[in-house]
Amino acid sequence: MIQSKPATASTEDVVAELRRRSTFVFVSHVKPDGDTLGAGLALGLALRGMGKRVHHFQQDPVPRNLRFLPDSERVARELPADLPADALWVFCDMSSTSRAGEFLPELERRNILDIDHHLGNEHFGALNYVLSDECSTGTCVLRLLRAMKTPITPEIATCLLTTIMTDTGGFMHSNTTADVLRISAELTDLGANKEEITERIFANKRFAAIRLLGHALGTARLENDGKYCWSVVDDAMLAQFDADGEDTEEIVQHLRAVEGVDVAALFKAYDGDVRVSLRSNGRVNVQAAAGRLGGGGHFRASGLTFVGSLDDAIVAVRDALVAEGL
Ligand code: 5GP
Ligand code: MN
Repeated sequence: MIQSKPATASTEDVVAELRRRSTFVFVSHVKPDGDTLGAGLALGLALRGMGKRVHHFQQDPVPRNLRFLPDSERVARELPADLPADALWVFCDMSSTSRAGEFLPELERRNILDIDHHLGNEHFGALNYVLSDECSTGTCVLRLLRAMKTPITPEIATCLLTTIMTDTGGFMHSNTTADVLRISAELTDLGANKEEITERIFANKRFAAIRLLGHALGTARLENDGKYCWSVVDDAMLAQFDADGEDTEEIVQHLRAVEGVDVAALFKAYDGDVRVSLRSNGRVNVQAAAGRLGGGGHFRASGLTFVGSLDDAIVAVRDALVAEGL
């Protein structure tokens, strides 16, 4: 039987719940990015400004390039022992609770707020503030802050602009609407430090990352009549360049930028997993392709963790993409 999802909550209902609760735990997803972190930190800063108690849970460490975010030093895998039973757990930027990893305690739905902009969001919270037209989870948070009429400090503005710049690829992706540019200008007026965000996220690469990028580009394959470009990073390559997973971030977007390519894939076979990053120019729905293999994301950017070998992943991902029209 197909069960319909609970409806998306109204801004007023979410604001009322935020006002009602006094303790919050923000949850970001594994392999955190600027959106999951920036959204939670921004709302956390605002709630702390209202005198609320705020914690930030994240399974993985804060990536090096996001440690400039205000309050990011408060993000931890450990949870305080004295959390009240009515703490509200706010999941930011994830389709399901499984994206938070394996270290969360059992939570009751009534204590979950789900804030997200993914189309495939499972509406796992008591309140689901899922706005799939928003460019980032951070801009969903901005709607809440405006409705709460809470001051947007330069720190909050920096967190929010980071969510936008992360999820629009520095204002390059198709989700960069005129509204997004207007909001970004407002956040800049409010004191968001665009220069620092650009430098930290889009420059400031480790030499290891650049050498790894060179290797991954040098070994990339162009297939399916030049419409599909893919490459692999594995444990041996990371060791060769003294690199780690954070150094793989931008590889897939270079593969996608090749002339004639509709879809790019990066197979990340390290740390015991085969994870796959998919990017599309808009012709093929890579969210649907990832969904066929248990992953998800957006139309033009998705990912999955493959259960099986790298060789099997390469075949299965191509099949899934072909099934989606590659
Ligand atoms: P990335 O390639 O940057 O790791 O992920 C791109 C997008 O795909 C993310 O923003 C996220 O929306 C989605 N994504 C990545 N990995 C997974 C996954 O394992 N499961 C789901 N549901 N979505 C994922
Ligand atoms: Mn996002």
